[in-house]
Amino acid sequence: MLRDSFGRTFPYIRMSITDVCNFKCGYCLPNGYQIDKSDNRKFLHLDEIKRLAKCFTELGVCKIRITGGEPTVRKDFFEIVKVLKNESGIRKVVITTNGYHLDQKAKALVESGLNGINISIDSLNRETFKNVTGHDRLPEILKGINNLQDLGFKNIKVNAVLLNGINSSEKDFQSWSKFIKDNKVDFRYIELMQTGDNLDYFKKYHVSANIFKNYLNKNKWIHQTLGRDAGPSLNYINPEYKGKFGIIAPYSKDFCKTCNRLRITSRGDLRLCLFGNTGISIRHLLQKDDQLNELKDLILKQMQFKKESHYLELGDTGSTKNLSKTGG
Ligand code: SAM
Ligand code: SF4
Repeated sequence: MLRDSFGRTFPYIRMSITDVCNFKCGYCLPNGYQIDKSDNRKFLHLDEIKRLAKCFTELGVCKIRITGGEPTVRKDFFEIVKVLKNESGIRKVVITTNGYHLDQKAKALVESGLNGINISIDSLNRETFKNVTGHDRLPEILKGINNLQDLGFKNIKVNAVLLNGINSSEKDFQSWSKFIKDNKVDFRYIELMQTGDNLDYFKKYHVSANIFKNYLNKNKWIHQTLGRDAGPSLNYINPEYKGKFGIIAPYSKDFCKTCNRLRITSRGDLRLCLFGNTGISIRHLLQKDDQLNELKDLILKQMQFKKESHYLELGDTGSTKNLSKTGG
């Protein structure tokens, strides 16, 4: 089991498989994806991904989240899922997606055997969605959720970044409330995080998730605790609703105390935190099957460098320019 010097264990990996994205979310890639001329390394290859996952399985990891960029833009996306599901020993394989063409992809996603899908939807208002992401694609995403449900897919989560004055009003909260009343979907607001690129946006739109917490308390939602490989979300249930609400508040005190994940960037760097500068390339040890023990040793040694906190509250975003790079 992977363990750091603060006693935290890491059963969960977030792996970015590409930096490329087709959306232009204002807080992430407002000008769309731009090729990084300072780093011409290719994105991880299928064989490298397989070796990586095998290694983490042996180190006690039971869940991998595939993210990006937009993971589904990779041509071999379904092959990656298949290899992780069938040849790596990982128990749970889940993805985070912007839901692009979800209506058309729903069937293939269900058939791929994925254990869960997180879909990012910043607003249920079509115009607001379009303004935030640069794409008028809300209807196809909502249809995609319907299709997933019609096919019996169970583990659907929806995430929205909480943006002051954009999707943070009582009316917005009520529209999500209506959505999860009869939809078995977990909806979570994520507090906007500052990154190297988005300081002006952050200053303009960041708001504490306490406004949503207050709404939940006022409306008699009940706080719930979760299991070992669960995410960082504070979850709320209400017996009258099929879905749940959640809050991911990275600026809250103690957020990092329950950290249970490590990250792999699309170019094969191990990152010990979404922020900060700690992490190294492990790619040279992903080239042959017989490097497995050396790779395990390297990862285990890195654990001592994981810091206690992300230090985001000090405005220290480390080398994280935007979350499409490290995989949010
Ligand atoms: N493209 C996919 C998507 O949007 O779901 C996966 C990658 S995206 C970086 C993963 C998650 O990070 C999304 O839910 C997105 O809204 C969130 N995110 C991106 N930048 C963020 C920021 N600065 N603060 C908070 N969340 C952010
Ligand atoms: Fe793309 Fe996701 Fe970033 Fe939006 S948040 S620009 S969908 S990577």
